[in-house]
Amino acid sequence: MPDLVIENLTKAFNLLKAIDDVSLTVADGEFVTLLGPSGCGKSTTLGAIAGLDRADIGRIRLGNQVFFDGAESRFMPPEKRDIGLVFQSYALWPHMTVRKNLEYPLKLRKVPAKERDSRIDEVLDLVEMAPYADRYPFALSGGQQQRVALARTLVYRPRLLLLDEPLSNLDAKLRERARIWLRNIQSRVNVTTVYVTHDQIEALALSDRIAVMSKGKIVQLAPPRVVYDNPATEFVADFIGSAN
Ligand code: ADP
Ligand code: MG
Repeated sequence: MPDLVIENLTKAFNLLKAIDDVSLTVADGEFVTLLGPSGCGKSTTLGAIAGLDRADIGRIRLGNQVFFDGAESRFMPPEKRDIGLVFQSYALWPHMTVRKNLEYPLKLRKVPAKERDSRIDEVLDLVEMAPYADRYPFALSGGQQQRVALARTLVYRPRLLLLDEPLSNLDAKLRERARIWLRNIQSRVNVTTVYVTHDQIEALALSDRIAVMSKGKIVQLAPPRVVYDNPATEFVADFIGSAN
């Protein structure tokens, strides 16, 4: 079942088309990765889905919610979109413990107090951070902070998860471990996910499907195995090949 539907999305900065006629459908519960070199338009696409940025042309909808329709000048403000967003700089609130960091988005969404604790415990368990609930962010490693940032997004159960290079601040070894638990978590919560990375290995390891981007366009959209074995263009072959 299609969940997120993006049609003919275009966004220019001055004369440069950062994204150029991007269409993409993500199924319910699917994990799709936007993969490509720096500057190819991944973050601009994600920003348009999140509503941080407004595209010029095209349509975006999630289920029956219209996020954006250029022709009809419809634009749903980001806070109304049922999404969870995690960036590479996973800024936790430094003056709040892990538990308070997770409680805050629940308070914002008016989740009743008696339900909050059980939800927080559930996601802390999920990201294996339960023992750290009362710590402040400064007393956590980068990888742990990153897991808390993900938990803070999952705790309010968004319909759509948007992740922009969430592992890129971690060192190589930690990144490899993080890939494994990220994949585990996604398969357990089964939330529709759009993941952004310039790291081929990460994309191959995590995704149900990969959208390879170049110069604002999707040049191939296929499962990892197909992208790897049958790259659609020389660009894709080079980019995937450079993983080794
Ligand atoms: P990626 O995330 O794949 O590295 P981006 O989506 O951030 O790429 O950027 C795509 C292109 O759009 C790049 O050429 C970038 O310089 C340009 N761009 C992105 N955001 C802005 C902006 N706010 N103003 C001007 N140009 C931008
Ligand atoms: Mg980017």
